[in-house]
Amino acid sequence: MAYFDWNATTPVLAEARESWIRASEQSWGNPSSAYRLGALAKLELDKARKSVADNLRVDPKQVIFTSGATESINGFMVAAEARSPETAKVWISAVEHSAVHKAALEYWGENRVEVIPVDQGGVVDIDWIRQGLTPQPPALVCMMAVNNETGVLQPWQEVLQLCEAAAIPFFCDAVQWFGKIVNADAPLDRCAGVAASGHKFGAPKGTGLLILGNDWRGIHLQVGGSQEQGSRAGTENVPGAVSLAAALDYRMACKLSEGQLVARDQFEQKLKLRWPGEVQIHAEASPRTWNTCSVSLPKFKAARWIARLDKRGYQVSAGSACGTGKTRISPVLAAMGVDEDMAARTIRVSSGWETSPEDWDGLFDAIVSVYEELDSEQPPSGPGQVIQI
Ligand code: PLP
Repeated sequence: MAYFDWNATTPVLAEARESWIRASEQSWGNPSSAYRLGALAKLELDKARKSVADNLRVDPKQVIFTSGATESINGFMVAAEARSPETAKVWISAVEHSAVHKAALEYWGENRVEVIPVDQGGVVDIDWIRQGLTPQPPALVCMMAVNNETGVLQPWQEVLQLCEAAAIPFFCDAVQWFGKIVNADAPLDRCAGVAASGHKFGAPKGTGLLILGNDWRGIHLQVGGSQEQGSRAGTENVPGAVSLAAALDYRMACKLSEGQLVARDQFEQKLKLRWPGEVQIHAEASPRTWNTCSVSLPKFKAARWIARLDKRGYQVSAGSACGTGKTRISPVLAAMGVDEDMAARTIRVSSGWETSPEDWDGLFDAIVSVYEELDSEQPPSGPGQVIQI
């Protein structure tokens, strides 16, 4: 498979698709209806909730089905702010996804958001947290489990423990952790909130989770009916919940081959050997998920690499976000001290369960071929010249 953007989204698993179709055909009733068709839909929803809860080792009552992580994050942030003293702060790490970053700014206000720094390897500064928790405790600490750009595994379980000791609620954006780290005995049930998106692990888009800590059950993401234990009003997306549960169940049981576990590292070594001193692997020495490589390639801007790789059938993404037509440095790379030039040449490669070591070899060959092609082209000269991407 030449698709290398699994951190952006993933193909829908056959198990999830079939579950979705079955639930749509057989359990299309409204789970709140009093007759048997409604009861059947309610049963399917309850089964999906129990399956998710068993896989994640939480209580089914802690599981709220949502439309995706962005909704889960926004809903939680609003509720957490409403529970906090007026001037209390929220801490977020410097490498949070914009869903957390913007929600914090929007609902808490700039003056109440404090940023936890990261080191050059993109790992949050746990000492900063340890030292800050006692003198001026925040009302909430937010930290992702895995960074979407670099794949860096954050020490969120340690931070959770620190927060528990200081009686401060901890929220985890676990979007890139779900479906990648398998059978991990993680204390999700002890977090105040955990957000996930189904489409990142083989469920359809528009499906997501919010796992709520026991003290947080009953917060309102949206009001109206009493669905989802009163936390999320609105008729439930039963096929979506059922397919999310099926995808999670399938992924939690998947095993990676030895070859798959080392393929990313071998790819990185090959890049470094091919262009010594010109390739920079970001967060190379940090603990990372097996699937993600954030790499600054030689000479050319990310957009050119991406377009030419796409022509060869390989999909990768940029390490820099493009806003209003002007490429700006990725806040994640900026927080890690990566300079502008290097950030502009950074691509993110992210594989999935169905990616083979041969696929990684193919991607390496395609990168070499793109380099040779771009290098052989005349550099544009003179004003008004259009650079061919
Ligand atoms: N958090 C992280 C770490 C992500 O990678 C993403 C999506 O890329 C999100 C949150 C938002 O997820 P969604 O767009 O599915 O709501």
